[in-house]
Amino acid sequence: MNAEAIKAENLIEQIRKVNCDLNTELVSKALEFAAAAHQDQKRQSGEMFIEHPVQVSYLLAGLKMDTATVVAGLLHDVLEDTTISPHQMESLFGKEVRELVEGVTKIEGYAYHSREKRQELQADNFRKLLISITRDIRVILIKLADRLHNMRTLHFLDRVNACRIARETLDIYAPLANRFGMAAIQWELEDLSFKYLHPAEYRNLANLVAARKEERDRLVNVAVSEIKELLDRNGLRSEVNGRTKHLYSIFRKHQVKHLKFEEILDLIGIRIIVDSVADCYKVLGIIQNETIPLPGSFKDYIAQPKPNNYQSLHLVVTDAEEKRIEIQIRTRQMHLVAEEGIASHWRYKENPEKVRKDRTGRPLLNFDDNMQRQLNWIRNFLQRQDKDNPADFMASLKMNLYPDIIVVSTPAGDYIKLRKHATALDLAFKVHTDIGFHCIGALVNGKHVPVRTELQAGDAVRIITSPQARPSKDWLNYLVSINARQKVRTWFRRLELQEMVELGRKQFYSRIRRWHYRIRKEEEIQEIARAFKTNDIFTFFARLGSCEISTEDLKKVLLPEEEQQVIPEPRLIIEEEELAAKRQLADGIVLEDIDDIMIRYAKCCQPLPGDEIIGYTTRGRGITIHRLDCTNSGFLNLKKNEPERILKVKWKYGRQNTGKC
Ligand code: MN
Repeated sequence: MNAEAIKAENLIEQIRKVNCDLNTELVSKALEFAAAAHQDQKRQSGEMFIEHPVQVSYLLAGLKMDTATVVAGLLHDVLEDTTISPHQMESLFGKEVRELVEGVTKIEGYAYHSREKRQELQADNFRKLLISITRDIRVILIKLADRLHNMRTLHFLDRVNACRIARETLDIYAPLANRFGMAAIQWELEDLSFKYLHPAEYRNLANLVAARKEERDRLVNVAVSEIKELLDRNGLRSEVNGRTKHLYSIFRKHQVKHLKFEEILDLIGIRIIVDSVADCYKVLGIIQNETIPLPGSFKDYIAQPKPNNYQSLHLVVTDAEEKRIEIQIRTRQMHLVAEEGIASHWRYKENPEKVRKDRTGRPLLNFDDNMQRQLNWIRNFLQRQDKDNPADFMASLKMNLYPDIIVVSTPAGDYIKLRKHATALDLAFKVHTDIGFHCIGALVNGKHVPVRTELQAGDAVRIITSPQARPSKDWLNYLVSINARQKVRTWFRRLELQEMVELGRKQFYSRIRRWHYRIRKEEEIQEIARAFKTNDIFTFFARLGSCEISTEDLKKVLLPEEEQQVIPEPRLIIEEEELAAKRQLADGIVLEDIDDIMIRYAKCCQPLPGDEIIGYTTRGRGITIHRLDCTNSGFLNLKKNEPERILKVKWKYGRQNTGKC
């Protein structure tokens, strides 16, 4: 049923369809009462206010909640927004309903106060909400249904308030939904918040998903029917479905794991629902036999459920066409818990036998223990909090709710939010880019640690810097923050560019010296750079330094054509005169800038201009020139035994003398 079609006038009829266990007489009495109480109020959308509690109670009815909860959903804003007293409410609907409504009622709204006052009220309201949840778990369900409908209608609000509410939803309500295992509500809250907080990214990603939908659907259908057929062949009763990822989870993966949107979208998600735990493992075995499982991708959340009771087997496999498929295997009961968490627990509370055992009689999770664990978590959290510090309370609540975020403190008394697995270095960059670049270590809770140390929630961290310190390439291996990684990469790119410019400059001057090409003014270099379609000298040097412009290219621009002739390889057994003539192609040998040194050419390898050569300092007979690749064993021995006599030498070419023979 489309939520839009649920109205006050057809609510009773509609909730009968989704939940037949409700006392509709009491529900319609509550509807009448709430409509009367709110009759002067309208929503931002222009609708009558009552349509809001109507939607909230319909959501709760859909979660198969009991009559008291559905009634409280209808009445949830009455105490906050109208003059009705708790006493009146109790006399009409009973103590249980009155307590539930009081549980979701704020101490005071905080929209029109100063920033400090707002923070204080926000902290007080959340503290009260958490206490109410520990008294009656149904309070969180009403609160989440309330927030979900408000988020669905957020577009009627101005941008500032919409963003404030979206932020609060993403920071607190979505993680709370996750804590209590209500994945469907969590995802919708996250996607709606994402839409208001990052509108450009949301649109971009939504478009990308839409553009790939057809191809994706086709691939999913192929994978679903293949797996279904495989399981049928093995005599296993199963339900196989494609699974779409919600947009915010794609965005998070992109942020946290540095994956491209396309990479994440290319992964096909499949869900297999079977009758029993034993069947889950049978399916796993069959799939592992028929496909190529990705190493390290298997996770057994059946043996080890997540803290919010989530159970499933997870596996990533590669199929015959090398498509990667993400597979979840679970029982119907696990599926219900995965989607509706604590609500599914509530539903079966009256009939524990129904959930405690699966078809084969194997006992499932003890739901009461797990619910108790969540409530203990809240109680412990509340006990640890300092009542007089509302800013701390909110930071600490977010920190405890969000499994992906840690909060650490600095000596300045600031609380800084970091991604989970963040290192001391991430914190340094978060504080200031310069502190990041000069970071050499940290003091964590008074102990010296290296920059790569992973921080834990609640750590007190002092960053240690040194003015001489410089970034190191291996920082990229452990920096978690995308922003910091970007900064380090840019730093290295700039450094490399500087080195390239320097290298190019050296090459340029050494080449023109060798070619006797004279530069009188800097403008001439500019002129040469322009010949390579480069406007500034630095870029030109950098292109030369990175070999994007080769020596040959440079030669073509600087030297007339006839001077570029390639000098032929020297042949063995060439007459002395011929060798001498050829050697005149060059006008000597360059040795550490000293020209006209007494040189002889080795007979063994007959070096000629153009060959790579080295010199050997003889005793009293000047220098003998060999080819670098000379294989004469006598010379090889000399090279090995007297390396200090080996000299680096090069052919010397003169502008006037070359190319004349
Ligand atoms: Mn409300």
